[in-house]
Amino acid sequence: MIESDQNVWRGGLTQDLSHVLMSEAQIQSRVAELGRALTQDYQEKDPLLVGILSGSFLFHADLVRNMNLAMAVDFMAVSSYGDRTSSSGVVRILKDLNSSIAGRHVIIIEDIVDTGLTLDYLVQNLQTRHPASLKVCALLDKKEARVRDVEVAYVGFHCPNEFVVGYGLDYRGRYRNLPFIGVLKPEVYRKAE
Ligand code: 5GP
Repeated sequence: MIESDQNVWRGGLTQDLSHVLMSEAQIQSRVAELGRALTQDYQEKDPLLVGILSGSFLFHADLVRNMNLAMAVDFMAVSSYGDRTSSSGVVRILKDLNSSIAGRHVIIIEDIVDTGLTLDYLVQNLQTRHPASLKVCALLDKKEARVRDVEVAYVGFHCPNEFVVGYGLDYRGRYRNLPFIGVLKPEVYRKAE
């Protein structure tokens, strides 16, 4: 049984985790700090926060609630790993933005930067649409796994080179609803491969 602050999760979800990396309280406090930093940096800029679905949905939702300024949201969905736990490097846009970003101050909101292949593709793609500025805010940064050198202006936490789930991050569509982030036991994905 894994305990995360006040949350004790029973049943099928947490027995697949080896340990908790970031508790719910740690995540909420860091997201509030990031929200304050973005509020300061984007005053009068009316930024557009582009959430990359589905992994960033909780981070995005909590982050915007911690931003005290005029802003807008939009979402993109790209294919990354599918059901596997290592990057294929092939990125496909499954859902594009609803409107033009020309002249807008855009912030890409990512759950985790691993090899950097997804982000590298996204940054290049969005740059061609002539935003006024384009920055990246990622909850987790797995620097050790980096293959492409992409600049991440705002980072929540540095993350060890292990496969993590929770707080939006999934394995085969599950674990997204955990309010904390934990390391998935390797035998769980080895069993499935
Ligand atoms: P990259 O292209 O940087 O290798 O991978 C980016 C995407 O891969 C992330 O947005 C995320 O969806 C997925 N990913 C990378 N590492 C992890 C991880 O440890 N756990 C989960 N659940 N997804 C990951």
